[in-house]
Amino acid sequence: MKPLTILMDERDNVAIVANDGGLPAGTVLASGLVLVDKVPQAHKVALVDIPEGGAVRRYNVPIGYALKPIPAGSWVHERLLRMPEARELEGLPIATVKPEPQPALEGYSFEGYVNPDGSVGTRNILAITQTVQCVAGVTEFAVQRIKAELLPKYPNVDDVVALEHGYGCGVAIDAPDAIIPIRTLRNISLNPNFGGEVMVVSLGCEKLQPERLLPPGSIELKDERKDEALDVVCLQDEAHVGFMSMVDSIVRQAEVHLKRLNARRRQTVPASALVVGVQCGGSDAFSGVTANPAVGFCTDLLVRAGATVMFSEVTEVRDGIDQLTSRATTPEVAEAMIREMAWYDAYLKRGSADRSANTTPGNKKGGLSNIVEKAMGSIVKSGSSPISGVVSPGEKATQKGLLYAATPASDFICGTLQLAAGMNLHVFTTGRGTPYGLAECPVIKVATRDDLARRWHDLMDINAGTIATGEKTIADVGWEMFRLMLDVASGRKKTWAEQWKLHNALVLFNPAPVT
Ligand code: CA
Repeated sequence: MKPLTILMDERDNVAIVANDGGLPAGTVLASGLVLVDKVPQAHKVALVDIPEGGAVRRYNVPIGYALKPIPAGSWVHERLLRMPEARELEGLPIATVKPEPQPALEGYSFEGYVNPDGSVGTRNILAITQTVQCVAGVTEFAVQRIKAELLPKYPNVDDVVALEHGYGCGVAIDAPDAIIPIRTLRNISLNPNFGGEVMVVSLGCEKLQPERLLPPGSIELKDERKDEALDVVCLQDEAHVGFMSMVDSIVRQAEVHLKRLNARRRQTVPASALVVGVQCGGSDAFSGVTANPAVGFCTDLLVRAGATVMFSEVTEVRDGIDQLTSRATTPEVAEAMIREMAWYDAYLKRGSADRSANTTPGNKKGGLSNIVEKAMGSIVKSGSSPISGVVSPGEKATQKGLLYAATPASDFICGTLQLAAGMNLHVFTTGRGTPYGLAECPVIKVATRDDLARRWHDLMDINAGTIATGEKTIADVGWEMFRLMLDVASGRKKTWAEQWKLHNALVLFNPAPVT
């Protein structure tokens, strides 16, 4: 077995071991360095002697300081490192980097569903919005009936999805931060994949009343339907006698929307209509070497094609805030990023935590020593384009280009907030492996390692592990991803998560108190 190590920056004093199963002590690397420890796959090896207190550099960033002398050839794991302090949010470089404008990427298109508000869907789904968790059981019962009895009659509709969530009552709904879950839910029901066909199931007595969730004017309808009232089935309505009467009402109203959705057809639209959310989960040290850089390459392609790309996960970019503020197109964009970070710092502090609460046992087993190292590998998903806007949690993205959508790193909360932002395609990288999926939007999953792609061959859509083995370049995989996106967006291909109908729950971000 030829020893394979990967160095991210010439100035780094650690490299990671790429070989499946890691490398035993005594292995001689190409440089002549002899391993003094067994180093597991994706873990770091010291390339030089590092003195006590010395910086351990990866991505040319100090990811930690040695707690004791680390001889060259040693396994550098988290127990040997002290984590650096978080970068202050003052005195940051603001819009200092002006990347060379990249040539526009023209001639790429996909087949999508054009909506009345101008957005474009990649799927044609009937979504049933719920004001409150209380109605979830009844709605799900009705959805099963709709799928069995109605959906076969409307073959152009891809699916019927109940937007179940835990919010709506028992919450401090007038607390300032309650705006986040409320607008998240509102904007999800307006996601491009639902064709503007909004129907709501309400209980009746809940705090989040339908008109508060979707005030008049929030749904953009074509002229002849402009004055149409919000379609609400209220379970406590006196007209309902018995459970089946509620179910019948939901099924009846669903058919009105199914008919309209079924009449829609895909049409050719430019790639600029894509609204892509990128995310990672179950990360390992390969995430930042293979899959995330390939996503970053693809992000640049999408930006060049005029599309919208969102990167997120506050705690995973917090340690690279200076890289982000410097790439902002304007001081206002940089200030907005700093504002989001400061808000999140305060949110974590309120819970007596900080960004270091992010890393998991699996991350550490996968070679990521701490959040600084994880963040440096996560941030590369944003590619190298200028950052042209910031989307606050639950808000809708209203511009093209590379956007920072501020969300927690939690896979489900991030995905939910990106859906609210208008995401019509999701890209998700994983090193440890996760079967993550969303019912509302296709999720393309990218494996960081060959071994994972092999074992999870029917769950992973792209194998970026080929970058570590030298079979493919970052650009090869980035282009593969871009082309797959157009195929998936067009409905020509289904992702593995779609084929198996794997999806996770919507999880609303509610920083406000519950009662
Ligand atoms: Ca995540």
